[in-house]
Amino acid sequence: MTDRLLLGSGPSPVPRQVLGALAQPTLGHLDPVFGEVMDSCAALLRRVFGTQNPVTLPLSATGSGGMQTMVDALVRPGDVVVVGVNGLFGERMADALGRVGAEVVRVEGEWGRALPGDRVAEALPDELAAAFLVHAETSTGALNDPGGLGAAVRERGGLMLLDCVTSLGGVPVRVDDWQVDAAFSGSQKCLNCPPGLAPFTAGERALERRTGRSWYFDLDAYVDFWRPGGGGARVYHHTAPTNMIVALREALELVLDEADAEREARHRRAHLALAAALDVLGWRRLVPEAEAAWPLLSVLVPDDVDEAVLRRALLLEDSIEVSGGLGPLAGRVWRIGVMGAGARPEPQERFITVLTRHVGGDERAALDALHAGWGGA
Ligand SMILES: *Cc1c(COP(=O)(O)O)cnc(C)c1O
Repeated sequence: MTDRLLLGSGPSPVPRQVLGALAQPTLGHLDPVFGEVMDSCAALLRRVFGTQNPVTLPLSATGSGGMQTMVDALVRPGDVVVVGVNGLFGERMADALGRVGAEVVRVEGEWGRALPGDRVAEALPDELAAAFLVHAETSTGALNDPGGLGAAVRERGGLMLLDCVTSLGGVPVRVDDWQVDAAFSGSQKCLNCPPGLAPFTAGERALERRTGRSWYFDLDAYVDFWRPGGGGARVYHHTAPTNMIVALREALELVLDEADAEREARHRRAHLALAAALDVLGWRRLVPEAEAAWPLLSVLVPDDVDEAVLRRALLLEDSIEVSGGLGPLAGRVWRIGVMGAGARPEPQERFITVLTRHVGGDERAALDALHAGWGGA
């Protein structure tokens, strides 16, 4: 198969060990050996999410399936739900909530700027069912710090809901400290697993409100299969994607091999080093540094570059994938992944070298800036 360097908005580079785990002989979903994999996978997920929630498990779906579970399992028609919207993924949640008949209160932010939770908190009505924030808005690369939103929502009796798809594994996520009641993620961003699983966590307050409206995304059915508290036989609901769960466990072990502080520092360094190198070539960052999500760097495409043609050449001639802009940023920005195994000097060097071959510019100076960003290595 073609071996692409995945430096787009996801999927991200999958380490050899994770591919190896994926290629192990398939186990049945009720095999006790697979049960041990499930238990350890759930325990590792609790660590990356920063939670003690027993109900923490990978849903059999992509990240969007995690969002759909949140909506179907925790929101009822007529519920007032406040949604922070400063990019495609906030927009998508507002859409999903509207479809189930929730009363959506939008708090708008500019695409390319952060929308901090504290700003959303100012707009909360006295009574609400829930508030939702996208932690790292992958459509722009802005980080929406939850701040005091969780506490403000809890004060009003609502649920705090968080999209951690691109943040999980790349920037610290502290579900319990931030008073987040439910959160979802995706396997293919900073966790460096192929796409197909949606890590999900829900606390007591969220579970008390579960609806059972969806058959497939029924949290009770997931609990009966995952048995988070131990005890009782696992009950078949759907055939769990066993190879993917084995691979996710391996991916989580790799993520957690690195201490939290080191992992964050590496993503930060990788983001800033790449931004500095691209700046030398005239590609300026979209999101102000203080508002950036380290796992995704958005840069403005210079006027004299046909970005779609260049992106296609990079992919088909050089096997490097980067992502274009979305919505109002389509044709204007590139979104470059700085995710997990992709947040390292070697893939970034390859990208800068290939880019200068196509667009010109001082390759040596750009690589020097990259290396200086990595600490003079
Ligand atoms: C990728 C992404 C999603 C959607 O995940 P899929 O796996 O594509 O379904 C949702 N939210 C954010 C912030 C994302 O980056």
